[in-house]
Amino acid sequence: MTPEPIPFLDLITPHRELEAELLRVVQQAFRTAGFIGGPVLEDFERAFAEFCSTRYCVGVSSGTDALRFAIMAAGIGTGDAIITVPNTFIATTEAITQAGALPEFVDIDERTYNIDLNKLREYLEFRSSWDTKTGRLISRRTGRRLAGIIPVHLYGQMADMDPILALAERFNLVVIEDACQAHGAQYLSKRQNRWFTAGSMGRAAAFSFYPGKNLGACGEAGAVTTNDEELARTLRMLRDHGQAKKYYHEIEGYNGRLDAIQAGILRIKLQYLAPWNESRRKCAQRYQEMLGAAEGIGLPYVRSSAKAVHHLYVVRVQNRDDLQRHLAAAGIGTGIHYPIPLHLQSAYRTLNYEKGDFPVTERTAAEILSLPMFPGLTPAQQRRVVEQVLEFLSLTPAQSASKGQSA
Ligand SMILES: *Cc1c(COP(=O)(O)O)cnc(C)c1O
Repeated sequence: MTPEPIPFLDLITPHRELEAELLRVVQQAFRTAGFIGGPVLEDFERAFAEFCSTRYCVGVSSGTDALRFAIMAAGIGTGDAIITVPNTFIATTEAITQAGALPEFVDIDERTYNIDLNKLREYLEFRSSWDTKTGRLISRRTGRRLAGIIPVHLYGQMADMDPILALAERFNLVVIEDACQAHGAQYLSKRQNRWFTAGSMGRAAAFSFYPGKNLGACGEAGAVTTNDEELARTLRMLRDHGQAKKYYHEIEGYNGRLDAIQAGILRIKLQYLAPWNESRRKCAQRYQEMLGAAEGIGLPYVRSSAKAVHHLYVVRVQNRDDLQRHLAAAGIGTGIHYPIPLHLQSAYRTLNYEKGDFPVTERTAAEILSLPMFPGLTPAQQRRVVEQVLEFLSLTPAQSASKGQSA
C-alpha cells in the first residue's frame, strides 16, 4: 500500500475549514455590489495595519504592485538605483526596473540567506561615492544615483534591520522592506530596545497575499504598510489611476487596487494568521529536533534577535537534485527558492553581472531545498519526510554542506 502523498503546501484544507465564513464574504459582495473599495477594504486595511503596528495600510492588487508603488511613492525612479539581493523572487527587481530604477546586488549571509551586512557596508563605503557637485551618492558601477535599499525578509525571517537602517541614515537611502514572505515576523532592535513586526521598520513595506503566502487571498492581492501619511496618500492615488477624487487625476497612476472580495477574505483569514504562524513555528521546531543530529544537511538558522514565521523551511545538501528526486519518488513535494540567482537570469543580461559575482548566493542556490511546510503539517507527515531525508543521506557518501543551527 502506497502512503498518501505529502504536499509541499496544502491550500485545500484551510479553505475547506473556512468555506462557510469565506462564502459569506462573496455573498455580501453580491448583495451589496460592493466589489471595489468601500468599507470591506477599509476594514481589512485597518486590521492589517494594526497587525503590523503601522499607522497605514494601503491594499493593492499584488505584492509586485506593492513594491513598485512603494518605490515610486518614495520618489525613486528614472536614473536611480536600488540595492537588493540576487536570491529573491524576480518580483523584487521587476518592481525596481518598472519604476525606472536599476537593481544593484549585494550578496547574502550564508546562514540566514538575507543581505550580508558586511558586504552592504563594504559596497557603500568602497563601491559608491559622493558626487561633489550634487551631493548625491553614486554607484561606481553604473554611475546612477543610489536611492534606496530593499532588504528581503526571505523565508519568513527579517533581515538584520538595525545595521541596515543605520547605514541607510548614513548614506541617505530609503529603506523599503520586501515583507512578502514575512507576515508577522519579528525583529528585536537593540538600537530601540524593543521588538518590531515586519513591515514597520522601513519607510514602507510590501506584502503579497498570493495564495501560498502565510496570509493568502483566494486570488491576487497585496498591500503596502507605512507610518508616513503623505506616502500613504500617494500610494492610494498610484493604485487608482492617480486620482484622490473621481476623475481628478493629480498624477498618472495605475489600475492596482485590491478588490473587496479579496479584502473580505483576507480579513477573515487574518484572524487565523497568528495561530497559523505558531503552527509553522512548531513544525520548524519538530524538523529541527528530528534532523538536528544528522550529518550532511544544513538546517535553517534563526538569529536570537528574530522570530521567524517560516514561510519556507529550507535545508541545504550537496546533492540537492538527487534528494528532490528521492523525496518525489516517496510522494513528498518540495520546492527550490530559488534555483537561478537573478544576476544570472537571461532577463538581466543587460545588468552586466557575471557568474562568480555573488558566490554565496550561487553556492546556496545549488544546495537549497524547501521541505513541506504549512500550518496543518502533522508530526506523522514530518516523520515520513525526515525518514526519507535520512535514508537519502545514509545512501550518499559523507558530505560537507554547511550546517546551520536554530536558536
Ligand atoms: C511573492 C513575492 C513577491 C511578489 O508577490 P506577488 O503577490 O506574487 O506579486 C515579491 N517578493 C517576494 C520575496 C515574494 O516572495
